[in-house]
Amino acid sequence: MRRTVAVVGGGCSGVLVTRELLRCGEDDHVVLVEPGEPGGGVAYGNAQPWHLLNSRAGAMSADPDDPDHFVRWSGAAPADFRPRREYGRYLRAVFDEAVAAHPGRVEVRRARATRIVPGAGGGTVVPGAGGGTVVPGAGGGTVVPGAGGGTVVLDDGTRVRADHVVLAVGGPTVARQPFEHPRYIDDPWRPGVLEALPADRPVLLVGTGLTAVDVALTLTADGRRTAPVVAISRRGLLPLTHTVDAAPPAVPDLDDCATLRDVVRTVRAAAGEAADWRPVVDGMRPYLDRLWVALTPQEQGAFLRHLARAWECHRHRMAPEVAARVVALREAGLLEIRRGGVAAWPGLADYAAVVNCAGPGRLPGAAGPLVGALLEEGLVRLGPHDLGLDIDPAGRLVAADGRVHERLWLIGPLRRGAQWETTAVPEIRAQAHRLATDLRPRPALAGVA
Ligand SMILES: Cc1cc2nc3c(=O)[nH]c(=O)nc-3n(C[C@H](O)[C@H](O)[C@H](O)COP(=O)(O)OP(=O)(O)OC[C@H]3O[C@@H](n4cnc5c(N)ncnc54)[C@H](O)[C@@H]3O)c2cc1C
Repeated sequence: MRRTVAVVGGGCSGVLVTRELLRCGEDDHVVLVEPGEPGGGVAYGNAQPWHLLNSRAGAMSADPDDPDHFVRWSGAAPADFRPRREYGRYLRAVFDEAVAAHPGRVEVRRARATRIVPGAGGGTVVPGAGGGTVVPGAGGGTVVPGAGGGTVVLDDGTRVRADHVVLAVGGPTVARQPFEHPRYIDDPWRPGVLEALPADRPVLLVGTGLTAVDVALTLTADGRRTAPVVAISRRGLLPLTHTVDAAPPAVPDLDDCATLRDVVRTVRAAAGEAADWRPVVDGMRPYLDRLWVALTPQEQGAFLRHLARAWECHRHRMAPEVAARVVALREAGLLEIRRGGVAAWPGLADYAAVVNCAGPGRLPGAAGPLVGALLEEGLVRLGPHDLGLDIDPAGRLVAADGRVHERLWLIGPLRRGAQWETTAVPEIRAQAHRLATDLRPRPALAGVA
């Protein structure tokens, strides 16, 4: 029986899950709802040529069964760090190829979803503006009586009725800063905002992570800047750097660890004994989600307060070329990394602009409009520590009353909290595969009516 799956959001997560749904879903029809180009999104759609991936090409395949897929497509060596913009083109090519290989099974709706109404049954789509008329079955879907999927309401006035809905709308928005400045840039990814700043006045960046590095590279890219870019954060920690050559991961022995304290002690000891700490950090990656869920809520809270920032600096590292550029900028006095509180930063008026590079915020404040509406209606609820939304272990969303939506799924960065590693491509690729597999209709059991 042909079912309709609505995928809301066509960034990396939306593209990868669409591809897996086509591969695994036999005859399923996928409606991708995305206002921009599929494969764009914050990370890859808006990147400039100097923005490189912070993972090696060998880790970035879209295909869980073909780890060298991106390497072959790009012609890179597996250890290379390629431009993020190129990776956006790759995702687009992956999407186009998947669509071409499964004719008639994908429909792209260039619109934004404003609401999801669960339980409205299967089928498809609806032409027409200003409210739209629901025409079950139009566009290739089959109505499954009582199937209880959902209706996705779009901002062009149409609706998509689906048997399953996958939410792939990206992560929380950037953490809001309590700032008064005539030129406060809350979203550094908005095209053109950084290029418009004068090169002869200093710019203050709030945050010293990967976003601040991206912004510093953009502000200095044309070589005309004479005034420094000053990046501040509470601890003043910059991301650490990859080595040029990749070393195989080394898994620390965590079997005897019962508490967060045990884990930290074991990892520090293993990293201290190793010639290089990086393989130890990389070796933990497949175990991080299990470690995270095994922690008590108090331990998770302590990790977030005291260790998460340092962990991120070790785990999400800069490409060597990017790190070399950062060193050169610091030596030239064009980039200063400072430690301090943001609100009381002196001489704010001297800065041409203050740019928010603080990274994702917590929900519900950092929810986009759709997720905000879902939370308000009680259709979803906050996950642990308000880092994302609550899900069951398979990725099905949990409603405010604790019920698990059988056919409403979540993929990508909003899983953070319920899981830990959920933002990078290898994890999203694995989520997409599992989701498509779980979504496959189960064969009827012999003898069961
Ligand atoms: C700057 C940056 C660099 C990164 N570099 C790397 C890296 O080198 N290696 C790595 O492994 N990972 C990297 N990541 C992490 C990871 O790849 C991204 O987080 C990933 O792209 C997440 O994809 P996504 O599709 O879930 O979210 P997004 O890319 O944010 O895409 C979400 C999509 O949903 C759409 N959308 C939002 N709301 C709606 C709505 N209401 N209706 C319809 N559509 C909607 C948006 O238009 C967007 O296209 C990076 C992340 C960032 C931010």
